[in-house]
Amino acid sequence: MRIDKVLANLGYGSRKEVKKLLKDGAVKVNGEFIKDAKQHVNPKKDLITFNGEEIQYREFIYLMMNKPPGVISATEDSHEETVINLLEAEDLVFEPFPVGRLDKDTEGLLLLTNDGQLSHRLLSPKQHVPKTYFAVIEGEVTEQDIVSFKQGVTLDDGYKTKPGKLVIVKSGLTSDIELTIIEGKFHQVKRMFLAVGKRVVYLKRISMGPLQLDETLELGEYRELTDEEIDLLQ
Ligand code: URA
Repeated sequence: MRIDKVLANLGYGSRKEVKKLLKDGAVKVNGEFIKDAKQHVNPKKDLITFNGEEIQYREFIYLMMNKPPGVISATEDSHEETVINLLEAEDLVFEPFPVGRLDKDTEGLLLLTNDGQLSHRLLSPKQHVPKTYFAVIEGEVTEQDIVSFKQGVTLDDGYKTKPGKLVIVKSGLTSDIELTIIEGKFHQVKRMFLAVGKRVVYLKRISMGPLQLDETLELGEYRELTDEEIDLLQ
């Protein structure tokens, strides 16, 4: 990786600022001054010092976003705004990507990372990672729906879902519910409700595995996971 990228990743400044620091002789790699921003280094193997102090490189970034509606969970798109467009430049240098997808109109917990193994583990159908959604449903959600979801419902393509745990928070002309599922089929929550003749009018993910949405994050805001949260995911 280029030395200017390594240093920018670590928060030593923008690529331009880092270039100047290099020129000024602030950085040594394996004991030699490095002044060329294009120089490649291996941050895991090379000893890099900044003003004489060894720098600790970190490879991975883990971000929790409260995804707003109207943006898509992709890394790039020619027409639509993506969740990546909401990230600061200092985080973009790690090249994070969203772990799984939320629909464009779905809000809530979205993990972004560059840790491919973790992403794979969280998304693997074999792992049965539970995801909990809060939703507002048009019409009255009933005890029968709880039973149906527990038994599994048949989606429009004939797929029978694994047991889901439905909790009715408020039932009436519209109902508030929480649903926990252990799989991630396309539009799964919306299609499960369609299978029992009901429509989701608002959807927000509130947890994924051991991670809970930090409700202090405004829509579109994000923060790094704490060390404790990262440990929980390992
Ligand atoms: N289920 C859906 O229907 N949509 C989402 O975004 C997530 C789960």
